Amino acid sequence: MTESTDGFETRAIHVGQDPEPVTGAVITPIFQTSTYAQPSPGDHTGYEYSRTDNPTRTALQEALADLEGARHGYAFASGLAAEDTVLRSLRAGDHIVLGNDAYGGTFRLISQVITRAGVTWEAADLTDLTALSANWNPATKIVWMETPTNPLLTVFDIAATAEITHAKGAKLVVDNTFASPYLQQPISLGADLVIHSTTKYIGGHSDVVGGFAATNDDDWAGDIKYLQNAVGAVPAPMDCFLTLRGLKTLGVRMDRHVQNAHQVVEMLQAHPAVSTVLYPGLEGTPGADIASRQMKAGGGMVSFRVAAGLEAAKAVTTKTRLFTLAESLGGIESLIEHPGVMTHASAAGSPLEVPDDLVRLSVGIETGDDLVADLNDALDGV
Ligand SMILES: *Cc1c(COP(=O)(O)O)cnc(C)c1O
Repeated sequence: MTESTDGFETRAIHVGQDPEPVTGAVITPIFQTSTYAQPSPGDHTGYEYSRTDNPTRTALQEALADLEGARHGYAFASGLAAEDTVLRSLRAGDHIVLGNDAYGGTFRLISQVITRAGVTWEAADLTDLTALSANWNPATKIVWMETPTNPLLTVFDIAATAEITHAKGAKLVVDNTFASPYLQQPISLGADLVIHSTTKYIGGHSDVVGGFAATNDDDWAGDIKYLQNAVGAVPAPMDCFLTLRGLKTLGVRMDRHVQNAHQVVEMLQAHPAVSTVLYPGLEGTPGADIASRQMKAGGGMVSFRVAAGLEAAKAVTTKTRLFTLAESLGGIESLIEHPGVMTHASAAGSPLEVPDDLVRLSVGIETGDDLVADLNDALDGV
């Protein structure tokens, strides 16, 4: 295995991915098997049943954990399956603080599903850490943060939140889906556990759904490993293969996502149909300093508000030629959506509700000038 002192791109291609010992296959094979022969009862190679462990999954887990600076990493069938499994480590009476801008599915899972097991929750503005500390509920076991957030692209301070959370005896979970480990490594900033929807930038090609949890907390890791097998929300070998294939090019893709996003932001800021542009680290915005400390760059997601309101915002999403109107994000192709009606409909009427004139872009890696022209034409039309 490659030494961890190697660079990000080197580790993405080599960690956990030595040539397969039997045939020398350079690329980790898709171990499409449910079970493994044992020479005598209970005597096995480390693999006995594919819900418990599968070599293609092991390769993905080792590579991605390494990129997050974590000793332990576990892959799941989806981002929400990873979240659900991690949250099953809580007990009735425990409390979750959820940052007040989050993926709609995370909000639904915490507010509608996990609560059935007697866990309570509240939404909090994690830009106000004085209030977080002052209003602390002693039953809080987890502070759950996305940064940058979905879809408002707010930047929360991971290190400062970790400090307060630890002083209160709780743990900080960071959903690192929007930044990816290429742009931000929450564990190095004090987070206890990192969550990913690998469906997004890590898979990177909009052809596979998956999730991941990584941690350096040995006790928590042991429980998550136990739950991964006991609950069974594991990814198929083919899905692990696709995710690992995507991971190898994360660095080069992300550089281009960032470059194109910068071009798009510049155009949007100059367009009269746009009232506000939201992008992590944008100069003059409240999170700019934090972003410069904790992120390598702002990423490939851009949101903006349409001056003429809801109907105009919806119209923009139907007028683009290259940006496809669809949910999800982080793939090579550009997508556009209306969060209020689509991804965040389940947050309507809650503290996580989003403005109805908001449009969210996942800026892909097509030719930047083409993307700018496409959006510009769509905006001219409203
Ligand atoms: C998509 C997403 C999830 C959920 O992941 P799935 O793979 O769709 O289950 C969680 N968090 C964020 C930030 C996401 O964008």
